[in-house]
Formats: sequence, C-alpha cells, structure tokens
Amino acid sequence: MSDFDFDLFVIGGGSGGVRAARVAASLGRRVGIAEEHRFGGTCVIRGCVPKKLFVYASQYREHFDDAVGFGWDVGSPIHNWRRLLNAKDAEISRLEGLYRKGLENSGAALFDSRAVLVDQHTVRLTKLGETITAETIIIATGGFPNEFPALAGRQLCISSNEAFDLPELPRSILIAGGGYIAVEFANIFHGLGVDVTLVYRGTEILSRFDHDLRQGLHKAMTDKGIKVLLTDVIEHVTQSADSKGLVASTAEGQTLSIDCVMLALGRRPNTSGLGLEAIGVKLDKKGAIVVDQYSRTSVTNIFALGDVTDRVQLTPVAVHEAMCFIETEYKNNPTAPDHDLIATAVFSQPEIGTVGLSEKEAAALYEDIEIYRAEFRPMKATLSGRGEKTMMKLVVESKARRVLGAHILGHDAGEMAQLLAISLKAGVTKDDFDRTMAVHPTASEELVTMYAPSYRIKNGERS
Ligand code: NDP
Repeated sequence: MSDFDFDLFVIGGGSGGVRAARVAASLGRRVGIAEEHRFGGTCVIRGCVPKKLFVYASQYREHFDDAVGFGWDVGSPIHNWRRLLNAKDAEISRLEGLYRKGLENSGAALFDSRAVLVDQHTVRLTKLGETITAETIIIATGGFPNEFPALAGRQLCISSNEAFDLPELPRSILIAGGGYIAVEFANIFHGLGVDVTLVYRGTEILSRFDHDLRQGLHKAMTDKGIKVLLTDVIEHVTQSADSKGLVASTAEGQTLSIDCVMLALGRRPNTSGLGLEAIGVKLDKKGAIVVDQYSRTSVTNIFALGDVTDRVQLTPVAVHEAMCFIETEYKNNPTAPDHDLIATAVFSQPEIGTVGLSEKEAAALYEDIEIYRAEFRPMKATLSGRGEKTMMKLVVESKARRVLGAHILGHDAGEMAQLLAISLKAGVTKDDFDRTMAVHPTASEELVTMYAPSYRIKNGERS
C-alpha cells in the first residue's frame, strides 16, 4: 500500500469521474472523489436526463393532436410548467442519490467540495479546508456553456443551465446556435407552446450531420412553426422599453421582441482555477486538457477524461474513457478509448439518429459510393393526418459493399441508431442488410428493403 491517503482521487462527479471512482473502489483501491455542485454532473443534473424529460413533456402536444385521428376527444390540454419542473427536480434528486449511493457502496469516499491541485499528488478541498494526497489523480471536471462574453447584453441571456429552471415558461424565445442544444431546445420550447426563433451563423443547422438530416429536420421544424434564421448572428440584446421583455438585433438587420434569449454556442472545458498549469498539466488553445491515447496528461500520474479533454463531448464516451482507464491502470491491460463510429441522437422532433460517415464525408474518402435513401410517411401519420416524413439513408462503399453510414430522421431514430451502430461496428455489408428479414409493420423495415441504390457518387460526381 502506498503512503498516499488514496490510491486514486477523482476531481469531478459527473458520468466519467463517477464511473472511474466506483469501479476502481470496487476493485479494492482506496478512492476519493470530490464534486463542487451535485453528483451526477452535466448529464444527470443539467443535461441529457432533464433534457429528455423535457422532450417527453413537449411531445404530448402532438400526441394530443394526433389522438383525434384515432377516435379520441381530448378537449383542450393545458400545460403546467411548475408541475413539470417539480417532477423533473424530484427525478434528478433521486438519480443524484443513486449516484452517491453507488459510490458509497463501492467504498469510495465522497467530498462535497471544490478540489484544486497543489502539486502532482496533492489536492486541496477548498470548501472543507482539507488537503489530501493521492497516487493517481483523474480530472473529470466536464465543461460549461460557451459564455460568449463579446455579445452586448450577454448578461440578459440564459444558457441551457438556466433553461432547466426558468421560473416561468416564456411566451417567446430566441435561441442562438445550430448544434445539438439549440435544436433540441427549439423543439422542446415549441412543443410546450412557446413561440421559437432559432438564429444560426451557418447555411444549414447541425453542421456536423448528413445534409439530408439537416435539411429534413429544418423543413419539419419550419413546417410546425419554428422560425429559423440562417447566416445570421445576434449582435446585441437589450431590455425592452417596458422592461418586461427583451429586444434582440441581428447582424442581418432583424429586430426581435422576445421574452427570453438562450445561447447554445458550444461548451468549453472546465479547467480554469484548478491549478493545472502550475503543476505542468498541458492545456490546448481552448483550455482543454491534452491527453495521450490512454487519457494520461503531461504529468504521468494525472489522467483526464470526458468533456474536459474535448475529444468527443458525449456522456457514453466519458464513461468508456473511464473504463479504459481502469483497464489500463488497474487491470494491466493498456486500452485506448475507441472514438470511431460513435452513434448519436439529436432529440429533436422528429428525432435524428446517426452513425458513421455522412454522404459528403464518404464521398471525400472513397472513390465510389452508393446511397440508398427512402423517404416515407410513417404509418401513424396516415390516421393522425400529420404531414410528417421519415427519412432513412445508408451510405455504402460500392466495392466492398461495406455500410459506412446510416442516418435516420423520424420517430425513435435514436433507438435505431444504437442498434445500427452494433452492425456497423461489426463491419456489416449492404448484402447483410439485404439478407435480413424485415420486421413488419415497422418503420425500420425500410432499412432492409432498399434494394437498389438511389444514386451513386463516383470520384465526387453524382450519377
Ligand atoms: P454544438 O457544438 O453542437 O453546437 C454549437 C453551435 O454553436 C454550432 O451551431 C456552432 O456553429 C455555433 N457556434 C459556435 N461558436 C459560435 C459563434 N462564435 N458564433 C455563432 N455561432 C457559434 O454545441 P452545443 O452547445 O449544442 O452542445 C455541446 C455539446 O454537448 C455537443 O457538441 C454535444 O457533443 C453535446 N450534446 C449532446 C447531446 C446529445 O447527445 N443529444 C445533446 C446536447 C449536447 P458551427 O456549427 O457553425 O460551428
């Protein structure tokens, strides 16, 4: 046993930090973990989990409308924002409790305090006034919303952090950004009855996704009444003359009177004030911790994982990086995190589920690709009368027939992407799709019945 107080000390009680601490403790290591806010981190407290609960809440509006086509009379539903917040808060507290209990049961020591590094083996717990030592340290402090300080009137705007606890539901909102958070919250607020405008600097929302998903979702959002302003940015925000709302002006000359402005312009690594640079932990230009393939920082006994390293800002990736750390450090099995073919979902309405290369990425990498694409009205929409479309698309390498990407826009697209990811990871070919029997009647059966390519791209030329 080492002379240190702990074998492992983890700074940050989010998804990655908690996983590393819990598993290391269950392997018999002496583990401590510090969290300055609430155990559970961004995902549980102010991210994925409350977001998904809000998504469910916001979907009911369409469910009530659709029910009429199936013979139901539902009257005029009224939403109670306060009741949603209370229910959400209770669920988040329950989950936070489970995180704490899981750590305690594994034998880890929990510290409700900010922790900063004093030297490469010493951590000061600022709130508790204690100093502890550890053989190995993990920094898993996550990220925070890009504050965008250059924007005039920034102090009048909210980020996703505040969106989860607004005292009242605004009547109208302007959301800046075209990424995951902006798009998801635009749909959430719209579903809850808020008048939503989204303003994005690029030519189409969701810059990192396949163009069919981007265009299809954009159309679905505008069809339902969400206003989308492209190639534009907010220039300044001021209080309205009656002080009851806000006025936002954009670079393209739009002036909007709204109740609320939300900035969703990316997230930054949470590294300032931790004492990292003073002890030689290297940061990149964005302030993210630089790590090697095993998540080791430039100081050999200090590791970093999750959003603070700005590799891929997704909860399952942080958890995977934590498990790789355990293999590498405590199971004598050096394991580098695998960041290839990560499936992801955007919980918009309709939802996006995607894995692998977009058409554009594949066309740049491969000489000859085939695109299989189907767009259809989902069965439920026949009776509901909703004019929505589901889109499914496979990107296939022509020679080896390997499926390089699968992209879905429609109900349960995230669930489908998870299952498709297994086959893509296993190197599935289009012939495997063709040999697979359809499950009928489902939407996903379309994935195994697209026999002929919709088009082909050879040396960048579509035919
Ligand atoms: P994203 O990176 O998804 O989107 C950021 C958006 O802000 C982009 O549209 C970007 O434009 C725009 N932007 C950035 N800087 C500026 C600027 N200076 N002026 C104008 N626009 C700007 O980040 P989010 O904040 O939406 O989410 C953070 C991360 O959290 C995501 O990357 C994702 O990994 C994770 N997340 C995952 C979710 C999920 O799995 N469903 C849900 C929510 C978040 P451009 O595209 O042109 O660069």
